[in-house]
Amino acid sequence: MTAAAFSTADIAVVGGGIAATAAILRLIRTGYSPLWIAPAQKAGDLPGEHLSPAARPMLEEIGAAGLLRAACHRPEHSVFSAWGSDQLAERSGIVHLEGPGTVLERAAFERELRALAVASGAAPVEARLIGLERNGDGWVLEVEDGDRLGRCGARFILDGSGRAAVVAGIHAPDHAARFRADQLVALCAFLSQEENAGVEPTRATLLETVPEGWWYATLLADDRLVLNFYTDPDLLPRDVTREADVFRAMLERTTYVGRWLRDAGFSLNAPPDLVSAGTTWLAPAAGEGWVAIGDAAAAFDPLSSHGMTTALWTGIRGADAAVARLGGNAEPLAAYAEKVGRGVQEFLQSRSTIYAEERRFDASPFWERRKRAVTDAMAPDS
Ligand SMILES: Cc1cc2nc3c(=O)[nH]c(=O)nc-3n(C[C@H](O)[C@H](O)[C@H](O)COP(=O)(O)OP(=O)(O)OC[C@H]3O[C@@H](n4cnc5c(N)ncnc54)[C@H](O)[C@@H]3O)c2cc1C
Repeated sequence: MTAAAFSTADIAVVGGGIAATAAILRLIRTGYSPLWIAPAQKAGDLPGEHLSPAARPMLEEIGAAGLLRAACHRPEHSVFSAWGSDQLAERSGIVHLEGPGTVLERAAFERELRALAVASGAAPVEARLIGLERNGDGWVLEVEDGDRLGRCGARFILDGSGRAAVVAGIHAPDHAARFRADQLVALCAFLSQEENAGVEPTRATLLETVPEGWWYATLLADDRLVLNFYTDPDLLPRDVTREADVFRAMLERTTYVGRWLRDAGFSLNAPPDLVSAGTTWLAPAAGEGWVAIGDAAAAFDPLSSHGMTTALWTGIRGADAAVARLGGNAEPLAAYAEKVGRGVQEFLQSRSTIYAEERRFDASPFWERRKRAVTDAMAPDS
């Protein structure tokens, strides 16, 4: 391994996702030149495409609202769900002041957001944070890029490393702990329409519950279809991530989602990917010299469709709190941690309410687990 020299800065931002990139854009606009430790983006599709209309004002704050006009995204108008009933019902009864939400081509959105940060003057160090030491009032960060190791310094760290939450993980502050409400996982697949299907696919989103969890399907602007199934790891059928037939058989047991895909000529040709999707959070989400943003602070069950909005909000407000702290004002950082904590409690409440709407499968473990009192679920993540 060779040692590479990296720079020092007032603020280091860890992560290359939406939270970290929003923080970078905010800091640059505030006049800072943060050190940005951001692994290269992976090629291929990314799950998580539903952007709430509440995200729009935040994108405006960082000069990124124009990204939503790209042709690879589409406005969200129709959501249908069979949740708590055998009947399919239109779910989007709320008219948002900000306009409709957006169905993103997620990988393209993240690429463009990063390109905007680079065009604004950011220079990502394509590396991973692997070590951290307190050094007086600041930090020494140890980073790794393939076979290169490097050390760099910062007075304050914003942790946007997603569910990995590496800063708290490595630094292990004795007053902060990671909590977990459930073990939710998602099976994710991207489907294309068969050639000569001869059907215009409906630009809609469909949710459907089954005893083992719930299905989600949505059409992207390029007419590919995103198909997700949410369940708990112990309820996954054997070999589902190895054999497409196993996932296909699960789909056959649905009432609406399978029919929609069949009628519109979508076929499942490869097994799905498996990703973590549970509700976990750090409490408190900030400490002396660091703040967690995005999923590193609080990662929600995707049912909320608020992960990206939270990533934007925490990225921007976490950056503001860091700047205030460096200027000698600790109050915004404490207020930030308090607000993240309150947001988690509000989310847990609405999560319970939404899962309680499904009464048909009360005896099945997936639904029974989500109806237990929220306080029972609040256990430190081991
Ligand atoms: C299946 C699924 C569906 C979802 N659907 C939606 C949806 O429809 N709408 C919605 O709003 N949200 C959705 N979400 C949630 C949303 O995707 C997340 O909340 C959001 O991506 C969080 O952004 P982030 O920047 O905090 O983290 P991430 O996107 O996870 O980014 C973390 C970054 O940190 C980097 N990193 C990790 N470790 C290190 C390290 N050691 N050093 C440096 N960098 C590191 C990673 O490479 C990555 O760049 C969904 C999530 C899942 C799992």
